[in-house]
Amino acid sequence: MTKQNEFRDVAQRALEHAVAWRTDGPKLPAIPPATRDQLRARFDIGLPEKGLAGTEVIEALVSAAQDGLATNTHSNFYSWVQGSSHPVGVAADILTSAWGQNAAIYQTAPAAAIAEEIAAKWLLELLHLPAECSLAFSTGATMASFICLSAARSEVLRQAGYDLEQNGLSGAPAVTVLLGDEAHATIFADLKYLGFGERNLVRIAVDDQGRMLAADLAKKLALVAGPKIVITQAGHINSGAFDPFPEIIAASKLAGAWVHVDGAFGLWARAVPTLAPMAAGLEAADSWTTDGHKWLQVPYDSGFAIVRHAEAHRRAMDVTASYLTKHADDGRNPSHFGPELSRRSRGFAVWAVLQALGRQGVQEMVARHCRCAQHLAQRLRDVAGIRVLNQVVLNQLAIAFGEESESAEIRAQLTASVIQAIREENLNFVLGANWRNQPILRISVISLYTDIPDMDILADSILRAWKAVRS
Ligand SMILES: *Cc1c(COP(=O)(O)O)cnc(C)c1O
Repeated sequence: MTKQNEFRDVAQRALEHAVAWRTDGPKLPAIPPATRDQLRARFDIGLPEKGLAGTEVIEALVSAAQDGLATNTHSNFYSWVQGSSHPVGVAADILTSAWGQNAAIYQTAPAAAIAEEIAAKWLLELLHLPAECSLAFSTGATMASFICLSAARSEVLRQAGYDLEQNGLSGAPAVTVLLGDEAHATIFADLKYLGFGERNLVRIAVDDQGRMLAADLAKKLALVAGPKIVITQAGHINSGAFDPFPEIIAASKLAGAWVHVDGAFGLWARAVPTLAPMAAGLEAADSWTTDGHKWLQVPYDSGFAIVRHAEAHRRAMDVTASYLTKHADDGRNPSHFGPELSRRSRGFAVWAVLQALGRQGVQEMVARHCRCAQHLAQRLRDVAGIRVLNQVVLNQLAIAFGEESESAEIRAQLTASVIQAIREENLNFVLGANWRNQPILRISVISLYTDIPDMDILADSILRAWKAVRS
């Protein structure tokens, strides 16, 4: 076998399996059947002295992984906010791997750099954000917020007369971060990576939907001197709720703070005219995070860091070395905007998914998922003992079981038992979460093809589970 043929053979074999997974997937049980020990035994077949033939390796990989694959590419997956890897995005991703471009700089990967430039322009258009923003392609929202908050830290210090890149963090004026008490867990991780500890954070009170209280923010901003960053949220992980942006941003600007918006999935409301009012006003912020691999259905991994002040963005992230030839007329060099030098050319799949969905496709999908969430809420709302805890404004539902008159322990037990019973039916993939000191069944409607009939299957399963648990 020549080297040339080697790729054709393994690629064809892999593609056959990929197509089978996508076609058979919907018929598979929602929960992967393999146990941890089975998976270990299947993967741990020993490191061979001599390499094996490529097609043999692909066969071995498929048989090791098959029973341990989650079904988040299928429409019955409701746990976490996970997109389902749009077929066209996956196909573009296969090409991305085959082309093997390192997206560091224009000179070594020209098409990758320009694909990012154009996809970035389209993303800003879809999200109705200022065209002059710079945009980084990250692994996800966690790293996108890390990038945005790096730019924020550099800029608020610069405005306080301190050059962070020159002088470093020790000895810098204290920066205070103000954020909602129910900010996403990854925001707290980002702040830790950036050198902020609990004592540098001011937590702002939230209402029963997890929305930041603008009055509490205004009050606390007035008590803080020095450089400040305010972190808000478009799309609360449990309720889907949006912070009151106009009030928050007005108060923050008055206090000279940088405003960052974590809109990992919620930012996509801006692409849909009927939903956009909830996310109105956030265009006045300084930076925004959203995911490609959640609502946009880009294959993993894909996130976007969007920064109004391109200079601050670059100052915080740029990598310089003599061999990184960057010409003034190159346009975008991806490594100006993210923490990685060598990385996957993430722009190709984003470009392809945006082409495949189009503006209308994005609108239709996001609106449909929100309609699905409403439909499910409707099916459950009037059933005795089932409580939909959130106002269903987006695609998220937080559901608890048991009457309000029952003790917290009993309700917790009932909710856990219902989740267990739904999982035993194995028609839908669900998991629990905790919100406001109680266990919940959290449903995220986010898979590409999920529609009303899927909601009825899920609602029936929840109702059967509740009936069985209650009796
Ligand atoms: C999912 C999510 C994140 C983290 O995103 P990753 O893509 O998993 O890194 C951050 N914030 C919110 C609100 C999210 O829903």
